[in-house]
Amino acid sequence: MYNPKSSKAPEFINHQEILDTLAYADENKTNVKLIDSIIEKARLKKGLSHREASVLLACELEDRNEEIFALANQIKQDFYGNRIVMFAPLYLSNYCINGCVYCPYHAQNKTIPRKQLSQEEIKKEVIALQDMGHKRLALETGEDPVNCPIEYVLESIKTIYGIKHENGEIRRVNVNIAATTVENYKKLRDAEIGTYILFQETYHKESYEQLHPTGPKHNYDYHTEAMDRAMTAGIDDVGIGVLFGLEMYRYEFAGLLMHAEHLESIFGVGPHTISVPRIQPASDIDPDSFDNGIDDDIFIKIVACIRISVPYTGMIMSTRESQECREKTLKVGISQISGGSKTSVGGYSEPCEADKDSAQFDVSDQRTLDEVVNWLMGLGYIPSFCTACYREGRTGDRFMSFCKSGQILNYCHPNALMTLKEYLVDYASESTSKIGEKLIAAELEKVPSEKVKALAKDHLERIQEGRRDFRF
Ligand code: SF4
Ligand code: SF4
Repeated sequence: MYNPKSSKAPEFINHQEILDTLAYADENKTNVKLIDSIIEKARLKKGLSHREASVLLACELEDRNEEIFALANQIKQDFYGNRIVMFAPLYLSNYCINGCVYCPYHAQNKTIPRKQLSQEEIKKEVIALQDMGHKRLALETGEDPVNCPIEYVLESIKTIYGIKHENGEIRRVNVNIAATTVENYKKLRDAEIGTYILFQETYHKESYEQLHPTGPKHNYDYHTEAMDRAMTAGIDDVGIGVLFGLEMYRYEFAGLLMHAEHLESIFGVGPHTISVPRIQPASDIDPDSFDNGIDDDIFIKIVACIRISVPYTGMIMSTRESQECREKTLKVGISQISGGSKTSVGGYSEPCEADKDSAQFDVSDQRTLDEVVNWLMGLGYIPSFCTACYREGRTGDRFMSFCKSGQILNYCHPNALMTLKEYLVDYASESTSKIGEKLIAAELEKVPSEKVKALAKDHLERIQEGRRDFRF
């Protein structure tokens, strides 16, 4: 019944295969020989199967777990260096006809103010985001064909790309909207979105149906097969994720990797990103009412095991997580984080009013983007506002072959430095600027190619003089 090449959800996310995987992982959680062989395979940096990865996640040998963390850190360094890509979510509408029991936007919640931003309001939000320094957004909406139709989303994307406030511009719009048809995905592709993101929430079908009792999202198969429709429509970059805390984390972990294997076997390229949200408090939502919450130690191990299982896949963490937790997960796998986020509709231009009670979840990390950038640099990371690949057409399998050929190291580093420089010149506080200039000078020396280094140096000088948007 299990078939990663099938287009049917119950076959590529096969319940029995997950149960067998979990049993296999349990049987082998102290099997030194097997665990060592899987770690050796992971060192080749070509990834692991869901079965192999599940054994490592279950591993109870302390010294081998230390090896797993060290390897995750090594792989992170090899593929991403010390760069962390920055983004912000933008909530357009919280109208929703679904009944997801873990989300305050569910249709039955009468206490939450409903809002859909007008194009004028979107402009204000985007200007506020540009004034913070953001270049990459993730659009978020609830599902409501009447109050938030696809035409509205398309118009909003056009509006966002069209706003150039002072030196600001949004260069990549990722989109997180409900599962839809191939026709609608084609429209999103034509609107030049970056990544299409859709979280599975849980791969466990029975739980899924209980957690989504009403609305179109109740249909597990339609939701689970959404990425196939998106990729069939020509969207190269898709982002998957589960909401940890809803079901048993080992089940979700195996399902997540099976989903990645499925996309790779059908389309020749796996997911562009994997997100790892954990359930958080919000209006009408108490995380304690869900039995499968995971503590920070398990959470960090999940991140490390994903990192070594899919080395080429970006990993995203939102401001749901605290500064402390974000710091730990950056070391073992996270490559992209949000900063200065608002999770309410209209939260950037009218924060007090919108934030009162319409946030989708509580933000643990409440720091401004400048504070996050400053903190990252203090930890030795380069905050990157780079969007070069998408704009150079390096998406899908072209992106993957770019990664695999090692080019990522030659391009990402100078691109990160140039976009950081733009941030420092246009938006940073004095103290952030000082740290950043020093960091850029030191990091520029690490660019291996003398030719690229000289060119990057020249571009950095021009950015100081007012020119923008250089990229390799
Ligand atoms: S998770 Fe999405 S689909 Fe579900 S209620 Fe919230 S906004 Fe609606
Ligand atoms: S060059 Fe491409 S892979 Fe590297 S940071 Fe920029 S967009 Fe990402």
